[in-house]
Amino acid sequence: MASRKSAFRAVLATLVVIAAAPLLVILLPLLLPVIAAGAVLSERALARTGCPNCGQAFGRAEVRRAKRVAAAAARGLTRTMMALGLRPRVVTTWRLNCPRCGFAYGYRAGDPPGALTLLGQTPPK
Ligand SMILES: [Zn+2]
Repeated sequence: MASRKSAFRAVLATLVVIAAAPLLVILLPLLLPVIAAGAVLSERALARTGCPNCGQAFGRAEVRRAKRVAAAAARGLTRTMMALGLRPRVVTTWRLNCPRCGFAYGYRAGDPPGALTLLGQTPPK
């Protein structure tokens, strides 16, 4: 009885996946702009976040720079791991430097804007 029930569940799960695949393809053009808008809004929120040390906002240029540097590091790490035959699982940390006091903070993409980790102090530019 239990195997018949689990077979029914497997068939039902397969049917749900088959039915959902075209729906995802149809909804993808609607979902992509929503995802892109969410990324822009979170980037802006992080840019407005004040430095925990001095209160100065990081600014969009610094957030974009940190994101660009983290993406380049992730690409390099991914290539290296794939060349070694490993499956890469990379979590990038953006290094945000305060334009006023020079303190550096780590930010993981997807975390709330205030979730900053103190990394150290870099000399102000
Ligand atoms: Zn600061």
